[in-house]
This record gives sequence, structure tokens and C-alpha cells, in this order.
Amino acid sequence: MPIYEYRHTGKVGDTCEESFEIFQKMSDEPLTKCPVCGHPVEKILSRFSGGADKLAPSRLKELGFSKWVRRDKGTYERE
Ligand SMILES: [Zn+2]
Repeated sequence: MPIYEYRHTGKVGDTCEESFEIFQKMSDEPLTKCPVCGHPVEKILSRFSGGADKLAPSRLKELGFSKWVRRDKGTYERE
């Protein structure tokens, strides 16, 4: 699954960073609201172009994403 990067367009939730990355299926609708705080977000260009679907959770740690937390099935968010 590709990783998409979003950023808050207005208020940022207390536990959120201004921008975050999230796994979504290609077929999923783009998020319009932050899944954590519910404030509006917009999609920004992913820094992982191509091959992102090969990133297994175990690879995330190797790549330095040790601060990612699993929030939901198939969904990872940086702490
Ligand atoms: Zn948020």
C-alpha cells in the first residue's frame, strides 16, 4: 500500500504533528479530516514515490520509522 502524506490546513490536534504519513489503499478516498483529531487536512505529495507498497512494518523500523505507532489495521502514524 502506498504511503500518503497529509498536513493539517488549520488547527493541529494536541497529539498531532502538523504533517503525517498514512498508509492508504489506492482506491481509498483522500482524507479530508485528520483521523486523530478530526481537523481538516490536505494531501501533499508523498516523499515515497514508487516502491512504497513494498514497505512492510518491519522495514519501517529499519528505515528509521521506529516512532511509528500502529493505530488501526494497516494504518501507521508517527508519534
Ligand atoms: Zn490531527
